[in-house]
Amino acid sequence: MNKDALPQSGSGPQSCRLLLASIHDVGPRFEREVDTLASLFERTLGGPRFAMLVVPDHWGQAPLREAPAFRRRLRDWADAGIEIFVHGWFHRDRHRHSGIAGWKARHMTAGEGEFLGLDQAEAAVRMAEGKDLIEQIIGRPAAGFVAPAWLYGPGAQSALRTSGFALAEDHFRVWHPASGEILARGPVVTWASRSTPRQWSSRVVAALARRVLHGQRIVRVAAHPGDTAVPALMGSIERTLASFAARRRAGGYGELGAADTRMTSRPGMEPRNDPRGMSLQ
Ligand SMILES: [Zn+2]
Repeated sequence: MNKDALPQSGSGPQSCRLLLASIHDVGPRFEREVDTLASLFERTLGGPRFAMLVVPDHWGQAPLREAPAFRRRLRDWADAGIEIFVHGWFHRDRHRHSGIAGWKARHMTAGEGEFLGLDQAEAAVRMAEGKDLIEQIIGRPAAGFVAPAWLYGPGAQSALRTSGFALAEDHFRVWHPASGEILARGPVVTWASRSTPRQWSSRVVAALARRVLHGQRIVRVAAHPGDTAVPALMGSIERTLASFAARRRAGGYGELGAADTRMTSRPGMEPRNDPRGMSLQ
């Protein structure tokens, strides 16, 4: 990562700076891991000031519809103030890809980019069903939609515009789907657990992020269930959350629309997928 290449948002008052932390792949399949991450986040951030990204039926093997106890936990988390996002439907990418999409699918997602190859119609159905299901469970609007592995193909991008979701994010930005307005810029700090070299490199990137991202108005940090199996990653996650939380407020994505936390926006800009990035997923 090159410090000069990082977007800078200028220096505002500390109260306007936000830390947006999230736990990915929340669902009955990873309940124990989600509990571990949720306790770490609560302890480090001083309360339930983070988001959960929920998968309605992870790999077709963990349907929320058949998990009443977990649905009650989701409702409790939402009642406690945790923002709940819809995170795909199956999570897994079942398409064959060519060209740049194939490169992304192989190198960035380990086959988990469900919304990379979907056409608009199928993406729209999965978004609508996910939104319905999650909103019934939590009894309030979902905070937004985040595609698995943060990857959106053209069909997913089109479907998202009319999905009714208030927010979406990828590796580099958070935007308002209906207008395309960018609400926050800057890379997500995240970790990869699936091989030792990736674990090492994501710790190095996180350590660098702890040095160079403090000038950003919005900092995003995301952890995954697999991280809990690697003590060195958990240590890195804790240090990273603590480092940012010491200099800014842990808040919610829903605050991005508020004038005092809004970054310079450029209405009409469409989000793009970008094969480069800090994420080493
Ligand atoms: Zn995910």
